[in-house]
Amino acid sequence: MFRKLLTFDEAKKAIEQMLKPKPLGTEQTPLLEAYHRILAENATSSLDIPPFNRSTVDGYAVKSKDTFEADENQPVKLNVSGMVSIGEAPKVTVASGEAAEIVTGAPIPEGADAVVMVEDTEREDNELTLYGNVTQYENVQKRGSDIKNGEIILRAGTILGSREVGVLAALGMAKANVYLVPTVAVLSTGGEVTEPGKELMPGKIYDINAYSLSIAVRECGGKPVFVGVVPDEQVELRKGLESALGLADLVLTSGGVSVGPKDIIPQTVDSLGEPGVFISGVAIKPGKPVTVALIGSKPVFSFPGHPTSALMIFQLLARPVIQVMAGKSAKENPSVTATATSRMFSAKGRHTFVTVRLVLDENTTSLFAEPVETGASGSITTLAKADGFVEIPENNQFIDAGEKVTVFLLKENW
Ligand code: AMP
Ligand code: MG
Repeated sequence: MFRKLLTFDEAKKAIEQMLKPKPLGTEQTPLLEAYHRILAENATSSLDIPPFNRSTVDGYAVKSKDTFEADENQPVKLNVSGMVSIGEAPKVTVASGEAAEIVTGAPIPEGADAVVMVEDTEREDNELTLYGNVTQYENVQKRGSDIKNGEIILRAGTILGSREVGVLAALGMAKANVYLVPTVAVLSTGGEVTEPGKELMPGKIYDINAYSLSIAVRECGGKPVFVGVVPDEQVELRKGLESALGLADLVLTSGGVSVGPKDIIPQTVDSLGEPGVFISGVAIKPGKPVTVALIGSKPVFSFPGHPTSALMIFQLLARPVIQVMAGKSAKENPSVTATATSRMFSAKGRHTFVTVRLVLDENTTSLFAEPVETGASGSITTLAKADGFVEIPENNQFIDAGEKVTVFLLKENW
């Protein structure tokens, strides 16, 4: 098994080269199930929207030139030739000197090119008196003015929400062509790890990682499946990993990757298939013992058990892979520039990620980055308190107080 500490950059390259992440495929999904799915092809309109010239007001469809002379002192009289109903082709036409009653959304009848608002008219039987004029196409929404036949309305890669689904419905599409959602198996390890909801026995702790990692999987477009908590024991671990590989496109494990006697994850994962483990430790802090494998076609990321490390390494190494498998582009975390409030040290020879809180000064003009006490990286509260992280490359010793730093944000969905 491969055993050499890689640099952070080498690890990212190795992941790209070994896993070659790409979308898993596409499927048609009904619009009502399309929430947060990712469009796999451009959505092109095959019709004009609106499909016909339509009235934007209640009133009378007229020939605009018949109204040019009309004002409050010099009203014009027209003859009402009939009525246009909404939801059907007009049964009337409008000749010179005529007007047709019309409601908002109904098609403009042949011969008419504008609509006078009912408020600007008076009617007695079929005699209509106009107190104002209209210009050509006034109060008319023209065919294709919203969307033109052949127009690309949404691009491949768009994440579908209420507005996008509304647009697809307007195009008459009942289904959307979307990328398949990668299934990600999540497995926790360690005899001390207990599922929330169960009684906590002496010496035990509740499983944090299965939950934080599963939600992180959702945030980047995957579907998490919890495989369970497995003790640090070869046979059971192997069984758990095999079932994870059987049901998922990618597997995440936490715990058991350090150098303790019970840390048997790397060799167990490696024994499951070729090419096996290709990253066995990265010179980073936190998360140094992270292990990455490819078993057949399935990536396996094994994070250390400390919740902060596990979630941080997920963000840095696994998230981009899942995003691409889900049909998204692998984007860096969004970032802001801030001023360091105190000196932040790097771990010797390791690319260090310092979790920070963002603070606005009293005048709310400058943004400051304040390190969040990590204690041991075991504390989950670290990440809950942090807004983001600052990177210190392996060859830098520290960032000084007052220095401008780039803070990569952790809180947003993107
Ligand atoms: P390990 O990497 O297995 O040595 O675990 C490091 C630390 O993280 C230990 O204190 C574990 O109890 C803790 N830990 C491991 N797995 C989890 C988990 N799923 N949730 C919360 N803490 C964990
Ligand atoms: Mg453990």
